[in-house]
Formats: sequence, structure tokens, C-alpha cells
Amino acid sequence: MSRHRNVRGYNYDEDFEDDDMYGQSVDDDYCCISPATANQFIYSRQDRQAPKEEPLEEEEYEAEDVPMSPTISHNLDPLDQAKLYSCLDHMRTVLGDAVPDSVLTQAAMRCGFDPQRALDAVLSEDTKTAPVTRSTCEEATSVARVSQERAPLPQRTKQEAVAERAKSKDASHNKLDSEVVPKVARMTVSGKKQTMGFDVPSTGENGVIAAAARRGGSPENTTAAAASETTSKRPETPSKGSNGDEPSTVPTPGRSSGKARQAINVKAELEKRQGGKPLLNLVVIGHVDAGKSTLMGHLLYLLGNVNKRTMHKYEQESKKAGKASFAYAWVLDETGEERDRGVTMDVGMTKFETSSKVVTLMDAPGHKDFIPNMITGAAQADVAVLVVDASRGEFEAGFEAGGQTREHALLVRSLGVTQLAVAVNKMDQVNWQQERFQDITSKLGHFLKQAGFKESDVFYIPTSGLSGENLVTRSSVSELTAWYSGPSLLQQIDAFKAPQRSVDKPFRLCVSDVFKDQGSGFCVTGKIEAGYIQTGDKILAMPPNETCTVKGITLHDEALDWSAAGDHVSLTVTGMDIIKINVGCVFCDPKEPIRVCTRFRARILLFNIEVPITQGFPVLLHYQTVSEPATIRKLISVLHKSSGEVLKKKPKCLNKGMNAIVEIQTQRPVPLELYKDYKELGRFMLRYVGSTIAAGVVTEIKE
Ligand code: GDP
Repeated sequence: MSRHRNVRGYNYDEDFEDDDMYGQSVDDDYCCISPATANQFIYSRQDRQAPKEEPLEEEEYEAEDVPMSPTISHNLDPLDQAKLYSCLDHMRTVLGDAVPDSVLTQAAMRCGFDPQRALDAVLSEDTKTAPVTRSTCEEATSVARVSQERAPLPQRTKQEAVAERAKSKDASHNKLDSEVVPKVARMTVSGKKQTMGFDVPSTGENGVIAAAARRGGSPENTTAAAASETTSKRPETPSKGSNGDEPSTVPTPGRSSGKARQAINVKAELEKRQGGKPLLNLVVIGHVDAGKSTLMGHLLYLLGNVNKRTMHKYEQESKKAGKASFAYAWVLDETGEERDRGVTMDVGMTKFETSSKVVTLMDAPGHKDFIPNMITGAAQADVAVLVVDASRGEFEAGFEAGGQTREHALLVRSLGVTQLAVAVNKMDQVNWQQERFQDITSKLGHFLKQAGFKESDVFYIPTSGLSGENLVTRSSVSELTAWYSGPSLLQQIDAFKAPQRSVDKPFRLCVSDVFKDQGSGFCVTGKIEAGYIQTGDKILAMPPNETCTVKGITLHDEALDWSAAGDHVSLTVTGMDIIKINVGCVFCDPKEPIRVCTRFRARILLFNIEVPITQGFPVLLHYQTVSEPATIRKLISVLHKSSGEVLKKKPKCLNKGMNAIVEIQTQRPVPLELYKDYKELGRFMLRYVGSTIAAGVVTEIKE
């Protein structure tokens, strides 16, 4: 059965018996997605012909005619507006609502929209102490969070907090060496790298080199690059040999790259690997405090991924800290700050096995401040577990406007997840009542269907993360067995269909972390979205458009000679300066590189937006592991939601629920693929002042 529908000429009735549900407005804050529209945003891992866009005439818009967005109150040009909002977004992530907007705006403008400097400025004003240096920015931001949470302990100083954090990091390192705990990889460092987009941290001479590298130019070309910076942002394509004196770093297409690789039959090898178990990337989502970390921590414990001694230690430590109920959550919430706050901030990644699958588990943060981190996790997921709190009032709080249940479900759907297990958690709190379960599932079912999930791909499982009921084995609690005979959570995860991977396509890996390890070179982690890789291969990083050699491949702590699409790997690479690689770079096949652009066209679906979108509207583009300030450069056309036919050309504005073709201009070059070529790499989300306003797919790359 194909779960992926074609937009045109498709009989939806076959898939949706109750199709008229779609398009109905509901008492929720999100606009529903029609099945046809949903299809645009469905993550099909199967090869499928993408729907054809109607060829639209190239109509040039005159910049002077561009009406400014009504939301813009400053006399800034759109790019500066975008920078300002991006900077404010970053600052709010750290400071929350503690500091008035006007103060944040002033600081952002004073500091040239550099979030770190602006944060420094605000923090140093706030604490009336000497300004913190740039190098302590991360600590400063963490102090901001910690100090918010720790109001009753005003005697804590920044230095103490920083030292404590460092200590907790060390402690967790030691612990990993000595105890049986699931290795939890951090996908991002509390959003720090993400929001920095493609900035290469640099100063002085290095900065010049790095800036040149970012634009695909050699240091020698720096002057020219700098001169053209304001006029043209077109990145050099690798085939143009843009590196001047260093042609060897950019192989021309068609030239054999690196040492000859031993031909391997990847598909056959993949089938043999891990005892023939396919790999499944699973993200856990849901409102803050729904019990995500407890549920998954307990599941890992029951599977034997955490030994008794370690669990006992977590219990003791959490009791001592006055957070006894968080013991299982501590399995996944690794950092001192996450434990202090009792919230997940980064995407924690670990591995477990079911009888037929190897699962990479990503525990995404539920708190609205960390949605960008959650997007990163969701963008790499094949399937999701949505955790909802069954307690009275709590489910409602998470499901209502402002709760993350809806936003998360809509985000994962827009990012391509089609199979969903809903863990109706904390059922112990409501005595395992069938009525409560049914009430929740019917409300959620209605919403999820409108969000584009097929009923047959959504599974509801009553659970208690705290007591461990119905997690690994079917529950024996009589109140539950009286009415529920379905699978446990693990059995459901096991039953998910493993997606088709694009192993035959040219290699693509999106970098989610960069770090220096022992030995030569450095390490990058990320998910291979397409193709495969072998040690010894030469790969191209975009940006900065330079090649390096793969010295080692690690998957789930195991050194491998090769790995393929779907794997979350660490690569050790040599022959390139670590300073040039940032989160969001894409490593690709030098013969068939990914394109890098600053201007592209896309089909977008607008969510619930308060202000209409006009030309010049500033947004934050969330694409794979990066977020980048951008503007809506042109409004090309409004499309019919289901048929995709053009309803209006050159609209003046776009309103909520609309489907439209727009042209987007990013501040700096971003590596992108067309949705029709790589579904995995052709999707993105648009956010504006802390909320997600649209999901989109790339239809045309301009320059
Ligand atoms: P997260 O923010 O979604 O990761 O939630 P946590 O896992 O941190 O849990 C939040 C709180 O809910 C903690 O105090 C947990 O002990 C509690 N909790 C989690 N699962 C259950 C459950 O099944 N039953 C009960 N009674 N409490 C739970």
C-alpha cells in the first residue's frame, strides 16, 4: 500500500473514507492541511515523481515597488530586519521574557545584530558587573538560564555556575567511562551552533580566510570576494574551480576523486548489517513535562541499556537534588543544566534494539524555547513517538493554543514523518480509565488527521513512563487489560515500517556537530541523507566548497569501513581546517555536489499567522540542522490547496492557510536541494518571532 499520494489526478476517497474532514475548520489554532497539500509536505522516502509546478512566467519585480511588511516598525532594510529578528529570536531563547523587547532591540542594533555580543551587553547591564568576554558567551547564556531558574539562590555567582556546569560535564564524561549507560550523543549544543548558521568563528587574519572560504574563494581572492559581497552573493559552484591556486581541493566533475574505492554492494551489505535489522530513526516529541525523558529513560532501563547500579545512582542523586521523580529522565537529560531545570534542551541521541529493528532514539526538547533544536531532531527522523500527558487538565494544557502537542505534531508531519505512535502517558494518574483514553485519542485523532497523518499510520498506546507499564511488555494491570489488548510501546516501535533510503543517489550528509577528537583531523556528526561513504573517500564540504578525506567512520560507537543513507555517523576527516566547517554544512559527493544558493523558489503552506505576509517579510529559514535569516523576496502566486492550480499571480499578501509559490532570499548561501530530487533535503520550515509560520518545499534554485 502506498502511503504517498500524488497531488494531481488522485482519487483521495480511496485513502480517506472521511475525506470531507479535510478542509473543515476546527477549533484549533493551526490551519489544517488538505490531503493534497499534505502530500507536498509528506516525507516520502520512496522514489516518487514530484508533482509538476505550472511553469510560471518570470516576472521581474521592481525593488522600489516592494511594499514593506506592516509588521516592520523600524527603518531598516529587509535584510537588517531579518538579522534583527534572528538576533532577537536567539536572545529570547536565552533570556525568555525576562528583559523587555525594547532593551533587546536596542542591544541588538548596537551590536550589529550579533546575538552573542548583544546578549553580553544585556547581561552585563543587567548584572551591573564588568562585561563578559565573547569567549564566555556560552557560559553567560547558560548563566542567564540558570539564574532565571534559581531565583531563590541569589548568592550564586556566574563563576560558580560556570564552574559547576564544567564540573557536571566532566563528571558525565567520567561516568561514561566507568558505567553501563546508554551513550547519549548531543546533537547540538543548546542551539548555539544552530542559530549561528554558517558563520565561521574567526578573528583577524583567520577571519579573512574563513570569510573567503565561506564564499568558495581562496584567501587570495579575498579582496574581490569582499568587494563583491554587497553586490552579489552568488557562491562559486565547485565545477568553476573557484579556488584559484588550489584547484586540487575542488575536483572537477567527472574526475575520479580520491583513491579508488573497492566496489561494495551497499544494498546487500546493508541487509547483512546488524544481523539484518533495518535502522529506524525515531524522534520523541510532545509538550514539556508530558514525560518524554522518563518514558524513554525507563524503556532503555527495561531493555538493559542502563544497568541497575547506574539507575540506583540516578535515583539517589535525583532524590538528593529533591527531584526523585526525574530519575529515569536523567538517563537522557545528561547535562547539569538540563537536570537543574528539569527540561530537555538539546536533542539527546542513543540507540536501542527491538526484535526486528535497530533504533536511533532522539529525545527532542518539548519546551517552546527549544523548538529550533526540536526541528533539527525531527528533520532527521523517520518515525515519531508523540507523548501526551493523560492527567486531568494536563492533556488539555499541552493540546491548547500555546501548548507544544499541536506544534510538534505539525512540525514532524511537515518534515516528512508519516508514522506516529502516540503514548498516552501517565495513565496511572487517571486509574487507567478507558473513557479518558478514548477522550484523548478522539481529540488527537481529529487533529492529527487534519495535520496530514493517515489514520492507519497513527497508533495509540496507553502507558506509564514512571511505573514502566506497557512500555516493553504488555501490561498486566487489571484496570488496563480489562479494555486494552493492543501492543506495548516497544512492540509498536518494532512494527513501524522501515523507510526506503536513497542509497543509490549521490552522497549527502548534513553536519549536526563539529568537534576535535584525539588524533589528526577533526570529527563531524550528522545523518547520511543519501548515498553511501567509505573510508578513504574524498568528500566535498558545501560551504566552504573544499574537499577533505574520510579517515574514519563511526556508527553507534562502532568503527566501520562504510556507511549508508539513514545512518547517524561520526566521520573523522583530514585535509581541511576545522574552522571552516560549521553546523549546517553539507558534505557531498565532489562529482555531484549539492548546490549552494541565496535565492530560491518554494511552495509553502502557511500555518496560523497573525499578520499577512508581504514582500520583504523577514523570516528565519530552518533547514536541516541550520537556521538562517531570510526574507520573502517575491510573492509569485497563490495556489489551490488541493489541485495546485494557480489561483492568483503576484498576490499583494498571503494569509493563513494559503498555499503559495514564493521566492526566498537568504542572508548567506545555504546548501539546498530540490524537493523533486531529494525529498529529504528539499524541505524547510519558516519561523517568525519565535513561532513557526510555514512549511515549504524547494521547487527552483535561482542563484
Ligand atoms: P519531559 O519534559 O516530557 O521530558 O518530562 P519528564 O520525563 O521530565 O517528566 C516530567 C515529570 O512527569 C516528572 O516529574 C516525571 O516523574 C513525571 N512523570 C513522567 N511520566 C510519568 C508517569 O507515567 N506517571 C506519573 N505519575 N508521572 C510521570
